[in-house]
Amino acid sequence: MSKIIEINSLTYHYPLEGGGVIKALDNLSLKIAEGEYLALIGPNGSGKSTLARHLNALLLPSEGEILVEGLLTSREEYRWEIRRHVGMVFQNPDNQIVATTVEEDVAFGLENLAVPPEIIRRRVAEALEMVGLTSFSHHAPHLLSGGQKQRLAIAGIFAMQPRCLVLDEPTAMLDPRGRREVLETLKRLNRTEGITVVHITHFMEETLEADRIVVMDKGRLVHEGQPTDIFGGDIDLESLGLEMPAIPRVVKILRAGGLEIPAGVLDVNQLVNFLC
Ligand code: ADP
Ligand code: MG
Repeated sequence: MSKIIEINSLTYHYPLEGGGVIKALDNLSLKIAEGEYLALIGPNGSGKSTLARHLNALLLPSEGEILVEGLLTSREEYRWEIRRHVGMVFQNPDNQIVATTVEEDVAFGLENLAVPPEIIRRRVAEALEMVGLTSFSHHAPHLLSGGQKQRLAIAGIFAMQPRCLVLDEPTAMLDPRGRREVLETLKRLNRTEGITVVHITHFMEETLEADRIVVMDKGRLVHEGQPTDIFGGDIDLESLGLEMPAIPRVVKILRAGGLEIPAGVLDVNQLVNFLC
């Protein structure tokens, strides 16, 4: 599989007022494959958001480099192309609304690129369909639920036809239903459109179907692997301030009690299948 993003020995220092720096990323290297669904987890302050902001050149490396589709983020002349390839969705859905109707909100980015109106109409319709908001086209965005607002933000980026979507805790402010809606939308985008997804979350359950999970701590990449590797019981997530998802936690207890449960039991259906 070809890579879409390559991060080589990335270190980032935030400058502090009155001098000095905070090292937020520490010699981090990572390759992200085209079409991959990557989940990024780690305790607060581990550098997840700082890393996310590097992926579309909102921040530039203090040391090391990042290539997006082979383009160095540090090069001014590639910046707009990189931002077209890599779309960002943030935590607070209210901060991402820019227009007074759902339809106009999705069209906003395309209008700024001077895309012809008939193409805008088509792409807006496709994007709303993709996130399941077609019937809300003429609604006011601020009246939508949190989950709908985040899907609207995703639609606005999808309409720009990016290759990669980076989401920084997009479900943190949502209720369980909104979280489910957003997660389903991300999976669909990844599987049917082949868009690479980098999903930062502190909800461990949201990472169970990722192709790969990357665990960060203190600005470093400390573990990476498939969900079965990360939640298989060999990695001490608690000591990092993270918790195991519910089913792997139960599996660990059952194993300690002597039940031989095979690797790869991560969700409730798999556990029930094994037990019954
Ligand atoms: P996470 O998203 O994993 O919670 P962040 O990337 O936000 O982590 O933060 C990593 C480190 O950088 C933390 O120590 C944090 O306090 C620091 N940091 C984040 N943003 C800034 C900023 N704008 N100025 C100074 N330090 C910052
Ligand atoms: Mg963060």
